[in-house]
Amino acid sequence: MAEILKIILWIAYFISLYFAVFWFMVLLEDKPKRKAKKLQKLPFVSIVIPAFNEEKKIRPTVKSVLELEYPRDKYEIIVVNDGSTDKTQEITKSIINEYKSHDIKLISQTNKGKGAALNKGLRKAKGEYFICLDADSYVSRDALSKTLPHFTNEKIAAVLPLLKVSNPKTLLQKMQWLEYIVNMFYKELMGKLDCVHVAPGPFSIYRKSILGKIGGFDEKNLTEDLEITLRLQKHNYRIVQLLNTDVYTIAPSSFRELYRQRNRWYKGSVMNVITYRRMMFNKNYGDFGIIQMPTIIISGLIAIIIFISLAYYALKPQLQYLYNLSFVNFDLITLIKNFTLNLHYLDLNYMTFLLVAVMLGVSLYMIKKSHAKTNEHKITKYGIFSFLCYLILYFFILGLVWIGVVFDLITGKRQKW
Ligand code: UDP
Ligand code: MG
Repeated sequence: MAEILKIILWIAYFISLYFAVFWFMVLLEDKPKRKAKKLQKLPFVSIVIPAFNEEKKIRPTVKSVLELEYPRDKYEIIVVNDGSTDKTQEITKSIINEYKSHDIKLISQTNKGKGAALNKGLRKAKGEYFICLDADSYVSRDALSKTLPHFTNEKIAAVLPLLKVSNPKTLLQKMQWLEYIVNMFYKELMGKLDCVHVAPGPFSIYRKSILGKIGGFDEKNLTEDLEITLRLQKHNYRIVQLLNTDVYTIAPSSFRELYRQRNRWYKGSVMNVITYRRMMFNKNYGDFGIIQMPTIIISGLIAIIIFISLAYYALKPQLQYLYNLSFVNFDLITLIKNFTLNLHYLDLNYMTFLLVAVMLGVSLYMIKKSHAKTNEHKITKYGIFSFLCYLILYFFILGLVWIGVVFDLITGKRQKW
């Protein structure tokens, strides 16, 4: 068992290192800076907010959109109340009454899921551009003026702003804050290779005509945002990840909430990769097929492997100790009397140390670089403790979620959202 585990662990190390080197090379590659075009005429934009039981969050979300630095006759807001059982509908109506000079519409339907809510908004939308904005997210004032100029050619189907975790309070939120910063840098990097794999719910901007052409959102999907992105990639459209304007989202605050969210995300990823399996390792899709598609699955596999290995190595000495105790009938005194310290420097596993040091070095460099790129100047902005937890503990938590996902998939658990 231990030997097999060791081999698997080394394979996982090797693959991680391979990807780290790949990303490093992309980082070092000197691509010309992405140019924006000057907008001759401001286009009309539709911002669709799907909302299911969002009474606590919908007001600040809509308000942030009302404060956009963009002419108010050039955009509409469509709130799609997806069968909320709380006060989402009443609150939206009261906002519409308060801001009569703005174009805000409310559509209601029975609960059909986010994909269906977006499609409902899509059918109603008048804009040249269609934006999805989750009801738990907020935009910066320049979120439109800084992004729209990046639709520089007809092949660009979507432009994505920089997404950060809003005002993190709990330790878990602070770790997610760091995670988002690193992910954003990674996505921008991959964007240079046309490898963006997901256009997230908070303020992804689509060319509406393209959404129409490919048939809108998948209504039965657990991760409709990943699915639509894979479909766009399949049709060889381009997706641009920007880092020049911030959008904020409220991250799950408790372990339970985080587990539920990630379980859905990762399960959705696995299912969509299976659906789009023909793109995997397919040269016709360039780096997206060769690198990005496998990464979605491999990241999960590596998380599981590292989780099991760490658990095994952490638990093994304790089990061994209990086993020894059984020999002396749990007579602690005898055991302590016979204890000799047996430490030889040559026995230490220097190879593993070296590997861990290299990985840590690469990670720290990437984290530092991510912060610089996302205009965050301090890597311990939310405290050294959360930083260390992110570095050491977070991966473990995600590993646990992945194990749950594998379990659910094997047992065929069904879920709607
Ligand atoms: N949503 C919806 N119908 C549903 C579930 C969710 O319209 O049945 C909306 C929800 O109100 C939010 C967006 O979809 O605006 C994303 O939902 P959530 O924040 O739960 O997803 P996550 O951010 O965890 O992926
Ligand atoms: Mg959300």
